[in-house]
This record gives sequence, structure tokens and C-alpha cells, in this order.
Amino acid sequence: MKTSDVIVVGGGINGMMSAFKLIQKGFHVTLLERGQCAREASWAGGGILIPLYPWRYADPIARLDALAAPQWLDLADRLAATTGIDPQYTPHGIMHVRVEDAHKAQAWSARHHDMLTPLSSSRAHELLGRSVTSSLAPAFWIPGRGSIRTPRLGQALRQWLVDHPRATLVEHFEVTALLTTQGRVEGVEGPQGKYLAPRVVMAGGPWTRQLLVRHVQLPISPVRGQMLLFRAERALLQAVMLMNGFYLIPRRDHHILAGSTFEDAGFDRATTAEGYEQIHARALEMLPALKEVEVTHHWAGLRPGSPDSIPFVGAVKDPEGLYVNAGHGGNGVVLSPATADLLCAHIAGTPPPVEPAPYAVPRSG
Ligand SMILES: Cc1cc2nc3c(=O)[nH]c(=O)nc-3n(C[C@H](O)[C@H](O)[C@H](O)COP(=O)(O)OP(=O)(O)OC[C@H]3O[C@@H](n4cnc5c(N)ncnc54)[C@H](O)[C@@H]3O)c2cc1C
Repeated sequence: MKTSDVIVVGGGINGMMSAFKLIQKGFHVTLLERGQCAREASWAGGGILIPLYPWRYADPIARLDALAAPQWLDLADRLAATTGIDPQYTPHGIMHVRVEDAHKAQAWSARHHDMLTPLSSSRAHELLGRSVTSSLAPAFWIPGRGSIRTPRLGQALRQWLVDHPRATLVEHFEVTALLTTQGRVEGVEGPQGKYLAPRVVMAGGPWTRQLLVRHVQLPISPVRGQMLLFRAERALLQAVMLMNGFYLIPRRDHHILAGSTFEDAGFDRATTAEGYEQIHARALEMLPALKEVEVTHHWAGLRPGSPDSIPFVGAVKDPEGLYVNAGHGGNGVVLSPATADLLCAHIAGTPPPVEPAPYAVPRSG
């Protein structure tokens, strides 16, 4: 039986980011993952570093985004320097085109430091590259934002934890029960044994609801998303492009990720022919040159969906010492540094970096 200050259950981006930040605050952390780290949504995700259509979310999402955004450059550089795995953070800019609710977008932007720059169709064309479809207005440009390669971010965080003396990373350990004594957390157990700590963080993505079922009812459920990889061999697109709810993400090697579906399929992460056809058609509509490009991969992942996509971050009332960082929906990569900061403040008892009430566990509404 090994003892640490905090146990984190779940080795997705949010469990690993929680451990990464807690360790920097001086805590000894044990992270338990039932499979391999970052193989679920935290491998499947596109890695766009802004909530998609940010004006369509409630303000608590914008507050987390504002806390996370300035951290990405340093975070990626630091992980690359310490682990040798470069997550390829690329601030190539994000373009929303043919926006149906342009008035809403403009009103939101006026309240959020003019984050969106309205552009003419021809200027949007220049920035995206001449291969994209025509008639892009209304278009909104977000300069300085971009994407990260999610699987590489996961590998880098995992390696950082493997190397750190205050981290214990255990894969292939499934947590089946929380251990408590006199209303306090004592640790967790699974078929292979027990781990002890006075604090436990549940960061099990869409499985968090089951992990907590005996302690609190959290409305977190899986939302399947499928993706395609187009193996383009020359630069066809200069920035992330969003149109009609779908998106294209150019990578540094010129390959283009296209996504995504939002499906209620329970915990089934199989891909489907319908998903393929839908994404393929939308991608060609955005970038007709993709017609000539081979699709080499098609995959699916399960987003941890929650009401209004607002994650649950904080302490569960009973038992004492039980915390949650889960339910990030389609924004679990971009918001991860911010929710980990908020979690750290709860655990360390330091002032929260954002007003914590909207993320409380559970919350009303
Ligand atoms: C197709 C797709 C595209 C996306 N695009 C983006 C994007 O562009 N930008 C963005 O910000 N987000 C995006 N997302 C969302 C993002 O990927 C997720 O919100 C995020 O990865 C969730 O991370 P997590 O750590 O909370 O959960 P997960 O990645 O699901 O990790 C949870 C982990 O907990 C483990 N676990 C569960 N139960 C137990 C147990 N009992 N014991 C031990 N371990 C357990 C699981 O094995 C898993 O590894 C996308 C998601 C998908 C599916």
C-alpha cells in the first residue's frame, strides 16, 4: 500500500494536468489509470485551443478560457524541453466563416476584449489560403490562437509524470471503490490492491459519473465524436477553419484533421459509415482540394458531456477529501490548464483563480 498526498483517478488530459499542477505546488501525487494514459478522448480530440464558437457558451467557459489561453506557449515549451516530446502548439489563428449568428458573435466579442475580428470574405481567403471555398462572409478571425497535437500533449504530460520524483504513475489499475473512514477519504481500491491518500480527485472523463455514483449524482455522459485525417502533402490550409459546426485543423506536416460529429451512442466509440460520409462531405465543402487527398485514418472518442459544457471542478461535500475535475465536453483540452488551476486552489486552500461557484459539485440548474 503506497501513500501520497493526493490520488488522481484517470489519466486523460485532465487527470494528468491536475497531477502536473498539483506536483508543482509541492504535493506528492499518485495517478491511477485503468488503461494507458491519454488513450480515450484525450487521444481522439482535435486540439483546437479555443472553445468552438465561443459566443455560444455561457460566461463561465470564457473565464476558464481566459485563464488557460496565456499558459499554452510556456506549457508546450516546458513540456518539450523537459520530456523531448513536442506537443506542437501552433498559434496559426482560428477562422469562423459563414457564421449564422453574426450579431450574437459581435455582441459577445464587444464584451470580451474584441476577441473576434470581423473580416471580408476576400481577407478571410487570404488568411486561410486560396484553396478554400468562396463566399466566406460573415467571417470572424481570432489571431494568436491555434491548436496543439492532443496525442503528443498526452505523451508529454505522461513522460513528465514518469520522470518526476513526486509523481507515481500507475497504468492498468482500475479503481473500483473509494475508501473512507469517519466521513473522510482514505484512498481507493481496485482488484489489484489499495492506494492511500487523504485526498482523491476523480478525473475519469465520461466515466466520472459511475466513479462517484455512491457519493454524488453528476450529469456527465458520453458524447461521441468522429474524426478523419486527410494526408495532404502540401500546405492547403493556413489556419483552423470552422464552418457550419464542422472544422479543419492543419498540422505542421500539412496533414489536415476534419471533425466532428456529436452523437449520443452511449459508451460505444465505434466509427460509422454515416459519420465518415458526413465529415468527408463537410470537409470537401470547406476545402474542395481535399477531393484529391487520401483519408488515412478515421476514429472516434467520447467527450465527457455536461450541462452547458461547464465542467465540474471542486470538492464533493461528503466525504471530506473527495474532489472532481471532469465534464469538459468538447473543450477538455483548451480548458485543462484552467480547471487544473482551480482544482489546485480548492486542494491547497488558496484563493481561486476564477469565481468557483459555476463549477461547483454538484450545482443547481
Ligand atoms: C472527436 C473529438 C474532438 C475533440 N476536439 C477537441 C478540441 O479541438 N479542443 C478541445 O479542447 N477538446 C476537444 N475534445 C474534447 C477533449 O478531447 C475532451 O474533453 C478531453 O480529452 C477529456 O479529457 P479527460 O481527461 O477529462 O477525459 P478522458 O480523456 O476520457 O480521460 C479519462 C480517463 O479516465 C480513465 N478512467 C475511467 N474510469 C477509470 C477507473 N475506474 N479507474 C482508473 N481510470 C479510469 C479512462 O481510462 C481515461 O483514460 C474533442 C473530443 C473528441 C472526442
